[in-house]
Amino acid sequence: MTSTDQPFLSVRDLQVRFSTEDGIVKAVDGLTFDLAKGKTLGIVGESGSGKSVTNLTILGLHDPHRTTIDGEILLDGKELLSASEKELERLRGRKMAMIFQDALAALSPYHTVGTQIGETYRKHTGASKKEARTRAIEMLRRVGIPQPDMRVDDYPHQFSGGMRQRAMIAMALVCDPELLIADEPTTALDVTVQAQIMDLLKDLQQEFGTAIIFITHDLGVIADIADDVLVMYGGRCVERGTKNEVLRTPQHPYTLGLLSSMPSLGGPVDAPLTPIPGSPPSLLNPPSGCRFHPRCAFAEQVPDAVCSTKRPMLNVAEGRGSACHLPTEQRKEFFADFAESGTD
Ligand code: SF4
Repeated sequence: MTSTDQPFLSVRDLQVRFSTEDGIVKAVDGLTFDLAKGKTLGIVGESGSGKSVTNLTILGLHDPHRTTIDGEILLDGKELLSASEKELERLRGRKMAMIFQDALAALSPYHTVGTQIGETYRKHTGASKKEARTRAIEMLRRVGIPQPDMRVDDYPHQFSGGMRQRAMIAMALVCDPELLIADEPTTALDVTVQAQIMDLLKDLQQEFGTAIIFITHDLGVIADIADDVLVMYGGRCVERGTKNEVLRTPQHPYTLGLLSSMPSLGGPVDAPLTPIPGSPPSLLNPPSGCRFHPRCAFAEQVPDAVCSTKRPMLNVAEGRGSACHLPTEQRKEFFADFAESGTD
C-alpha cells in the first residue's frame, strides 16, 4: 500500500527521444510530476506536445529499438524504465491500463466483446473461461451497457461508438488497475456520451481509488475532471498547478493562449475567441530558447531576445509554477485583461 506522503506514480526528469529517417525527435524533454492514488492529473497540450509519448513510455509501449529514454518512472515504488518486458506485461492490465481515443482500433473485430474483456482477465488472474465470462458481464454492467448478459456475445461492430468506448473502459478496468491512463477517450463521441463517460470514470475512481492521467487538448474537459494540471508544449512542461490555479490564474502565455481560444462558460455566446497564431513546433528541429517564442505575443517584452536564446526553466514551488522569462509582476499586468474577463 502506498503511504500518503509517497506518490503512487512519480516521474523524474523524463527524456524521450526517438530516431526517424529524418533525424532524432526530442519528444519529451525533462518532464517531472507526481500522482497520488484517487487523484486525476490532466495533461493538456496540442498534438505533438509530447503528452501521448509520455504515457506510452510509462506503460512501456514505446518501440525499444528506436527510442532512447532517460530519467526515472516509479510506480508504487517500482522503477519501470529498468523493468523487463515480462514485468511490464504483468503490470499492464493488473496495475496500470490505458483507454485509447479510438475504441474500434483498440478492439479486435474478430472476437466478441465478452471474449476480449474475459481474456484480459484470464491472462492476469488465471481465472477459468466461465469465471472470465461472468466477470466480463459484470464489467459491462458496471460501465452501463444494457442487457450485458446478451451483449457480451456481440462483436465490436454491433456496438455504437459510445458503447464501444464503454467496452474498452470495461476491458481496461477488468483487473482493477491502480493507474488508468485515458488518452483523449471522449474526443470522437458526441457531448452527451462524452458526459456519460466522464461521469463513469469519476464513479469508478471513487469506487476503486484509481489514479488517473487524463490526456486532452480540451481545457473544458480538464475543468470537469482534473485535480491537477500539467500543460505541455514542444515536449516540455510549461506550467503546472491545481486545476483552479491553472484555469483561473494562468502563469504561462501558452496556457493563456489556450484559455483565450476556448469559449468561456457563463461568458457571452458571441464573445470573440483568439486562437494562438502559428502551429506547434517540429520536435525534429525545435525552436531555440523558449520553444513557444515564435508564437508568443509577449516574447518582445523580454529584453535582449532572451526568449529565443535561453531556455526558461520550470520554476515550481509546492506544485505550482511555470517556465517563462517574463518577470512575475509584468506577467500579472499583461494577463490582467484576461483575469478581468473571467474564466468561469
Ligand atoms: Fe513567451 Fe518568452 Fe515567456 Fe516563452 S519565455 S512564454 S517566449 S515570454
